[in-house]
Amino acid sequence: MTPRPIPTILLAGKPVAAEIKTGLAQRINELKEQGITPGLAAILVGENPASQIYVRSKEKAFRIAGCHSETFRLSGDSPEAKLLKLIEDLNRDPRFHGILVQLPLPDHIDTKKVLYRILPEKDVDGFHPVNLGKLLEGAPGFIPCTPHGILKILEYYKISVKGRHAVIIGRSNIVGKPLFALLSQKSKTGNATVTLCHSATPEIARFTRQADLLIAASGVPGLINGSMLKAGVDIVDVGINRIADDSAKGYHITGDVDFESVRGIANSITPVPGGVGPMTITMLLYNTVTAAENLFDSQN
Ligand code: NAD
Repeated sequence: MTPRPIPTILLAGKPVAAEIKTGLAQRINELKEQGITPGLAAILVGENPASQIYVRSKEKAFRIAGCHSETFRLSGDSPEAKLLKLIEDLNRDPRFHGILVQLPLPDHIDTKKVLYRILPEKDVDGFHPVNLGKLLEGAPGFIPCTPHGILKILEYYKISVKGRHAVIIGRSNIVGKPLFALLSQKSKTGNATVTLCHSATPEIARFTRQADLLIAASGVPGLINGSMLKAGVDIVDVGINRIADDSAKGYHITGDVDFESVRGIANSITPVPGGVGPMTITMLLYNTVTAAENLFDSQN
């Protein structure tokens, strides 16, 4: 007998982001009463079209929340030293509680060297080794925005993590690796048994079929399909893949999961677009407000 299809639930990011922003509005007001406006400095090097869109979205989100945000634009052929000097100036600038460098950087610039130059107290992307080290330890620090947003989605929709087998596809420093640490952590949002798959994992289906919770962050459109899953799995699709088409825009966005084939098998899934995407900028705002509060607390 074929099993009855499961009514797959969509885990939309917008209501989660809205709830977090409501909580942040109160915290921003309290800071403003003390004469502090949380501020973000974004650095954009070169003309990468996707990066320009991301930076504009971040500026807009900060403006709507009543926070300060400025973008510092450097030409694509700027020497590394110029970028490092800008970061040092921003580290000292009291208007900015958070600094982010939009990635990817041009090839002649050493990304690690640049990220390491940001003061850990202003590293609202959570990419500095001090913050990544704290994350591994389970100590308070800045959690990278996308993994942090994923935890918030799981919490909001009461998707259990504790005791389950979480399988992550992708080992990047900004998504897969931090999530590995967070989901396995002895904490309210952790306590899973975690498997991390990557491009050198043979036959990922052997692992995905064992997943109670599957996080797909490979950047490969449609990598995961229904035949690779166990019934009742909860899925977080992190992928944002641009597929060229005949539409006016010239492309559409898909995730790493073949959505139609997992419908009826998965218990739940974050849609693409509209799932994890809306969370990333919200958590950047969250980290920047926290950075401003931390500074205020350390001075009072
Ligand atoms: P990345 O390219 O740095 O890493 C991709 C990872 O996937 C690598 O570790 C690689 O080993 C693994 N991988 C690639 N092909 C694989 C395969 N066939 N089988 C198993 N593993 C494979 O990417 P990233 O920066 O971590 O981003 C991943 C995806 O998430 C991209 O589509 C990106 O656009 C998206 N993303 C979305 C958000 C968001 O806000 N929703 C934020 C960050 C990244």
